[in-house]
Amino acid sequence: MTILIVDERSWVREELRIVLQDLGAVADCDSGARCLQICQAVEPTVIPYDLILMSATLPDHAACDLCRILAQDSRTASISVLLIVDERVRKDESAFFSCDGFSCGAVDYITVPFSYPLVKARVKTHLSLRAALQRLQEHNTQLQLQKSHLQMACETQAALNKLLETMLEPLSLQEQLQQVLKVIVSVSCFDLQPKGAIFLSDAEGGELYLAAAQGLTSTDGQLCARIPVGYCLCGRAYASKELLFAEGVDDRHAPLSPGQEPHGHYCVPIMDRGRCAGVMMLFLPAQHRSRAEERVFLTAAAHTVAGLLSRRSLEEQLDVQAKFDPLTRLPNRHLFQDRLHQAITLAIRNRGDVVLMLIDLDRFKLVNDTLGHDAGDQMLQEAGQRISSCLRTSDTVARLSGDEFAVILQQLTSPFYVELVARKILEQLATPFRLAGEEISLSGSMGITTFPHDAADAEGLLKNADSAMLQSKKEGRSLFRFFTQQMQDQALLRMQREKELRLAMDREEFSIHYQPKVSCQTGRIIGMEALVRWFKPGQGMVSPGDFIPLAEETGLIVPLGAWILRSACRQNKTWIDGGYAPVRVAVNLSARQFQQSDALIDMVASVLAETGLAPEWLELEITESMVMDNVDQAVATMQQLQAMGVHISLDDFGTGYSSLGALKRFPLHALKIDRSFVRDLPLDAEDVAIVTATISMAHKMNLAVVAEGVESEEQLLFLRDNECDEIQGYYYSRPVPVEQFTQLLINSRQSRFSAC
Ligand code: C2E
Ligand code: MG
Ligand code: MG
Repeated sequence: MTILIVDERSWVREELRIVLQDLGAVADCDSGARCLQICQAVEPTVIPYDLILMSATLPDHAACDLCRILAQDSRTASISVLLIVDERVRKDESAFFSCDGFSCGAVDYITVPFSYPLVKARVKTHLSLRAALQRLQEHNTQLQLQKSHLQMACETQAALNKLLETMLEPLSLQEQLQQVLKVIVSVSCFDLQPKGAIFLSDAEGGELYLAAAQGLTSTDGQLCARIPVGYCLCGRAYASKELLFAEGVDDRHAPLSPGQEPHGHYCVPIMDRGRCAGVMMLFLPAQHRSRAEERVFLTAAAHTVAGLLSRRSLEEQLDVQAKFDPLTRLPNRHLFQDRLHQAITLAIRNRGDVVLMLIDLDRFKLVNDTLGHDAGDQMLQEAGQRISSCLRTSDTVARLSGDEFAVILQQLTSPFYVELVARKILEQLATPFRLAGEEISLSGSMGITTFPHDAADAEGLLKNADSAMLQSKKEGRSLFRFFTQQMQDQALLRMQREKELRLAMDREEFSIHYQPKVSCQTGRIIGMEALVRWFKPGQGMVSPGDFIPLAEETGLIVPLGAWILRSACRQNKTWIDGGYAPVRVAVNLSARQFQQSDALIDMVASVLAETGLAPEWLELEITESMVMDNVDQAVATMQQLQAMGVHISLDDFGTGYSSLGALKRFPLHALKIDRSFVRDLPLDAEDVAIVTATISMAHKMNLAVVAEGVESEEQLLFLRDNECDEIQGYYYSRPVPVEQFTQLLINSRQSRFSAC
């Protein structure tokens, strides 16, 4: 503690010095003027002494005046003043109080002559009071500091919360960034000016562009529209990825030049997972001192902006994924439908047309299967580009599924022009593709339909285009067909039949007939073919030739086929368990079933397990066309079926295109000669040659031969004489229901078939 003694008497000063020396640092002076001089020599914020002992009778200043002056000065106002009063004066009360020192700021007094213990005690009390006051003040200052910190934390937190809320608002990116700037510059606990900007890096990352600005003049805006990386303050902050503070720069951020407003800057990099996405720039008053709290807040705010940007880019990515096909980058079915609706709405408003083209690549599956998926992908990409190259940018090309593309043309009234575009697209597709070092030829089939001529809505247009496309496929490759009324009728009929077929499944209108296969040698039944029948109420029997292709197209064949296989296996097991000599039941497979090989193998295994039929009593009939498209895959599927113990025969042999090389690779048990070759036996020399050659070739390959469609004794005798193994046909029996077939089994047990 520090004490100042102000007294004109040197002995008073001396005595007090000695008495008070162990209470603190003691200084003295001999006049009021000197006292003021000493006290006013210190800095305005410094308090020169803790206590002043002042003579009540100074010759140069009345104590009262001196106390008042000290009380008015911020440096000395808080100093406690003790008056040094003569004992005689003190006793004379009126004289003592006439000095009025107490009313002017003195807090106590000591009397001369001194009672040392009393002096010491009084001074000590005032020094303790002073120390307590100081502690209180310090505490108070601390509290004030903490309060302001808390206020700052609350305000900055509230600002950050506001920024987060901004992220959720349905605004454009520019509006969101604008909002962000507004929130940041309005944080009052910092010295930020209501001026700033947000720059984002362009796609190449070589430049920053002004994405949002607040309070910038148009000149500033032009000056800062694009900033090369590394250039100027913002460009440097971007390049270094570090927060940059400048305390005194001009508007061009060069060292101050005359006439330019000086100010400070914060340039805060917007960091997103290690990558700098841009810079946030804020203005400060000139000569501003950077504070840690500001830097922390601005860095957090920049992180929030980074979050906003990454959320935006994620949303954009999701949007692209939802609307575009990732392989060709063309609009997907979803966006296509949107565009088609838009085009129709526009056409209604402008009384215009919309032309829809559906293009299917012919034989694409073959390319995919033989050259691999990479080549297939490349082909689809190139096909997409080729189609796009034939159109204007305002037209839409979309990839709807695997090898199916769609084109929407707007405001094209002339059919001549539509034909021109169609031809151009088909020509483009017919130009050979170079894939995996090979030249591959492809073609497209196209269906064309027009709004409002052919249909009133998008759904109708799509159906029409599909019908027209199927028609062009039927007629040959590289063709386009316009939708016609006849197609519409056919499409309606097809839809009607599909509906009936589904209903038939639900109503269990299907049953199975069995047709025996008879050994040419023994004349006994050695097998049977399961053939599905549809008894349609009010119409009678519908031939499988009429509904199987439709079931194939619609995918209904999968549940129907499973039902047929299960029923045939269960029935055969019943016959075997009933004591009849076991024979093999042959079940026809459809192309779609055979293509879904994993599902097929699972299905066969589970049916065998479920019905308890030994695999050797099941035979699956497949046709040449089903296996020739992709020989490798067919061989793999057949091998798996064979490994299960199931027999496989090749149905309708001779009608398709089988290469002998491929035939050799198939794990087959039998060939079934198609009935078209049997019909004119033994008169037709060509059929005779084909059948005999087939039998001898099959035998060389260790395959059994079954002749289908045997209707007469002549046919039977010819086949038997030429060593055909089995026959199947009306001559022995038509396909019959279960009860009749049971009778056939009983008959077969008792007698041989007469002609054999
Ligand atoms: P497919 O497998 O070649 O069946 C033999 C067809 O020839 C049967 O016709 C049968 O009734 C007929 N047929 C048998 N013997 C004679 C004969 O002596 N003369 C004449 N003119 N025809 C005879 P269906 O039952 O009408 O079957 C036609 C085709 O439908 C079958 O040809 C087969 O490809 C398919 N199909 C039949 N049932 C099923 C089945 O359950 N599943 C699958 N996926 N296809 C089936
Ligand atoms: Mg068959
Ligand atoms: Mg057949």
